[in-house]
Amino acid sequence: MRYIQTVLGTIKPEELGVTDYHDHLITIGGGEEKADRDLRLDRVDYAIEAMRSFKQHKGDALVDMNPIDCGRQIEMLKEIAQASGVHIIACTGFQRSIYYDPEHWVNKYPVEEVARLIAEEVEVGVEINNYNGPIVTRSTAKAGVIKCATHYNMIKPMERKTIEAACMASIRTGAPISTHTERGTMGLETIELVKKFGVDPCRVTLGHVDRNPDLEYHKKMAAQGVTLGYDGPSRAKYWPDSVIIELIKGMCDAGYADHIMLGGDNGRASMWKEYYGAYGHNYILDVFVPRMRESGISEENIEKILVKNPARQFSIEK
Ligand SMILES: [Zn+2]
Repeated sequence: MRYIQTVLGTIKPEELGVTDYHDHLITIGGGEEKADRDLRLDRVDYAIEAMRSFKQHKGDALVDMNPIDCGRQIEMLKEIAQASGVHIIACTGFQRSIYYDPEHWVNKYPVEEVARLIAEEVEVGVEINNYNGPIVTRSTAKAGVIKCATHYNMIKPMERKTIEAACMASIRTGAPISTHTERGTMGLETIELVKKFGVDPCRVTLGHVDRNPDLEYHKKMAAQGVTLGYDGPSRAKYWPDSVIIELIKGMCDAGYADHIMLGGDNGRASMWKEYYGAYGHNYILDVFVPRMRESGISEENIEKILVKNPARQFSIEK
């Protein structure tokens, strides 16, 4: 059985539609927001406005990649999905170790218990308070994807532990994995780790890898079955869009169009039109996809990148 688990229930993979593979709608509290206040996204009304606009611009689905204790607000995601009609997938799992105190329970509990807490968010419901209180209160919304993360040019011990926990939970639940890489590094090392922990790389998406837009490196990763998440469009501080276009063309020419997804990763208030930024959640569909077309990327490959690959990659397989 294959299905997609959104915050409002399950749908068929073919119902998912045009998907933003990695984005953010609400961030209130958590380690990332403490580290950088621009990462606070506290307006449900703005998120509803952004998602209604995304829907008008032919967007159908978005994956909110805030995991446990990174400002995730599951009840607000439900409200945004209900009000906008966009399919929203919530995630469980963990961000990089720098966002969790050394005393955080993730660093104390055995890996099997961490895996169980992740799996229960997929199978039973997301914990409303991010497992921060003595009372566990679960939302009716279940997580549809498991996050793990790696540091820049290194995988820290907590990250290795949570990759193992993510793999154990993925095997138990059938849920896919989507990672955070820092500047696109540690992709091949993450593939080796998930294989070691018994997960087929086909079930894994490596996020932000376009921050390291080295075509040969991307071909090597894709050849092992992973899907690569590109979310750098509009972020000239990393690379201009032209670099990402060339990377996508190179990957398509090499026969890897089945291994790419696109996302906005609008984790900063300064990225949203609704707060005070210039672009926001429509940039990919309004600006970047037309440029892909102008650059000669085929409609068939665009359809794969926006629709077919996400439908496969976010399926829960049992
Ligand atoms: Zn993100």
